[in-house]
Amino acid sequence: MNKTILCGLTIDEIYEIMQSSGFRMDHARATANQIYKKGLSDLSESNKLSKKLKMFIKEKTLSGLFLPESSFISSDGTQKSVFRRHDGRCYETVMMSEGKRTTVCVSTQSGCRMGCPFCMTGRYGFYGNLTAGEILNQIISIPLSRPVTHVVFMGMGEPMDNIDNVVKACTVMMAEWGLVISRRNITVSTVGITGKVKQFIKESPCNLAFSLYSPFPDERRAVVPVEKSYPSIDIIEIMKSDDKHKDRRLSIAYIMINGINDSDKHLEGLIKLLKGSRIRVNLIPYHPGPDDVNRSSSEKRMQHFRHNLTISGISASVRKSRGQDISAACGLLASQFEQ
Ligand code: SF4
Repeated sequence: MNKTILCGLTIDEIYEIMQSSGFRMDHARATANQIYKKGLSDLSESNKLSKKLKMFIKEKTLSGLFLPESSFISSDGTQKSVFRRHDGRCYETVMMSEGKRTTVCVSTQSGCRMGCPFCMTGRYGFYGNLTAGEILNQIISIPLSRPVTHVVFMGMGEPMDNIDNVVKACTVMMAEWGLVISRRNITVSTVGITGKVKQFIKESPCNLAFSLYSPFPDERRAVVPVEKSYPSIDIIEIMKSDDKHKDRRLSIAYIMINGINDSDKHLEGLIKLLKGSRIRVNLIPYHPGPDDVNRSSSEKRMQHFRHNLTISGISASVRKSRGQDISAACGLLASQFEQ
């Protein structure tokens, strides 16, 4: 008999599988609590569940929680964990702490099929979507010394290419019976798949970050192949017209590459594209993979962009590089996997 995997289910779904055996909603709540809040992979060890409920759980379900195969710590404290799927393929999770903030960067796919040539995950290939449970397990089962306050969907994979599991994982993250993480602290990133971005805006109240690379479509097409099918101008328009959650944070992730997309012409293009909107800009240093001759823009150049965007009325910030020495930085995930 196929057992139901609990991690990834909503409380209503957990109730649904137990109600015909005489269990109540408070039993479903207690079970969700042991999975999502306590992170208990073997529920027979729980002292909060009755003997009868534990027998039912053992017979009919699996927790779906499992530890990473390995973890690495960077010199700046960033931690990378590697999980292995049942089919042998891997995906990675990054955890960063700063002040009171602990952010987990989750993967949504093993590899990615968007094929962005500068990204090591894109070069790894595509080996499948992660389930909502596999996405959540990354937050529950990594080694943690402090509670997670923020989640970003910026690990391996294009979240919009696995939208149903991403929206469901967000639901469990936000729920009071789930991980209790504020929607304001959950950000999903995308290179932009028009229909799926619309679906995300409609179905989830979480933040959205759009990876732009260049304000000029011809240039963007060379580094982000999906630009051909899903023009960035359409994604920006969808973001500008989002009035479903007015306090949702909408941002552009702009990876800055020296001499490629950091000229004054690019700065003017960005200002023209975003002026008058509530979309903010996150300027991100470029992390070259092996054999890559490109380099990140200098800190001075990035601050020049930040300053000019800000005085044009566009909120902007410069993100710090983290975890480069363990290949945990943006664009480097999967760089240590076999091709
Ligand atoms: S940049 Fe994002 S969308 Fe492009 S290949 Fe890498 S993971 Fe996929």
